[in-house]
Amino acid sequence: MIIMEQPAIAQAEENSITSQPLSKKAQKRAAKAARLQEQKVERRAREKEAKKRKRRERAQASDAEPRKRRKMGGFHQTSFAAQVVIDLGFDDMMTDKEVTSLTSQLAYTYSANRRSSTPFTSLLFTSLNGRTKARLDAINDAGYKRWTNTKWWEEGYDRIWTSKSDSCDGDEDLDAHRANVVYLTADSEEELVELKEGQTYVIGGICDHNRYKNLCLDKAQTSCIRHARLPIGRYIASLTTRKVLTVNQVFEILLKWVETRDWEQAFWSVIPKRKFQRKTTNGPDASPEGEHVEEDEGQEDQEDADGAELVASSEDGEENDQNDGVSSSRPQPVLSTA
Ligand code: SAH
Repeated sequence: MIIMEQPAIAQAEENSITSQPLSKKAQKRAAKAARLQEQKVERRAREKEAKKRKRRERAQASDAEPRKRRKMGGFHQTSFAAQVVIDLGFDDMMTDKEVTSLTSQLAYTYSANRRSSTPFTSLLFTSLNGRTKARLDAINDAGYKRWTNTKWWEEGYDRIWTSKSDSCDGDEDLDAHRANVVYLTADSEEELVELKEGQTYVIGGICDHNRYKNLCLDKAQTSCIRHARLPIGRYIASLTTRKVLTVNQVFEILLKWVETRDWEQAFWSVIPKRKFQRKTTNGPDASPEGEHVEEDEGQEDQEDADGAELVASSEDGEENDQNDGVSSSRPQPVLSTA
């Protein structure tokens, strides 16, 4: 400011020494010019400072942003007190590519639960072995071990009720525990009506492109536990036949149902729209209402998860602020036959 001020004054002084004394008018003009110059410099300095401050604030805000997301700041969660089990006991029945797809689906599943406003209290992964385990171990420095509210067992899900009894009847306590477990499978004749707190829902952790029909149904029957399919055909008129979905799709449907208590909304929000219109068996003149979607043989959505990145370890393990409180005002849902 002073430096810039000098020329005007210096010029005025110089003028006063070397040449004629300045007229009053000229002096006023010179003083005004000096004042304006001074104000300009001050303004520039203020603007510069304001810019710096804004840049600093922006940097601080972007530093805080990922942390806020990680911590789900201001995001209220009310857990649904049911357990979902992902049965990983099919490792040797998948190709390497399918194992990769499956591990992506597991990450999607965990991520969906974490982001839900109504998460399941716990996610249990059973029979963790073989290539599935190796792949999970290899990614993000075994980041899955830091996934919150998840448990990982090398043993099978039957450890839930005990490993002692192989028979379907006998010990009453064992049967009582078993009675709370439902294996979800598209091959079941039973239809899931509602989800119920206190229950355990098993999803088959397999990506098989429909090679194995009745695989999970047979396993449920061998384990003497109940089984049920999602009531897709009941709510989506165009999907009346057996519809096999991926692990994460099934899980997301369950989550959406817990959030909305509305199967139709849950199906529409999760099942890809193209599924509702393909493979019509009616002729070209068939009306949309008359469309019939054939049994899904390809289970091609299993590919959808292939490109998924496993949830980064930096996202996991740190947040522990999930609300595990259980709403007791929930209706008492039941599982019933169709
Ligand atoms: N061939 C396998 C299909 C695996 S699909 C089988 O025998 O089940 C992955 C898992 O998602 C299934 O094991 C099942 O638990 C669940 N699932 C897929 N579609 C379903 C549906 N329509 N109803 C209930 N569960 C379903």
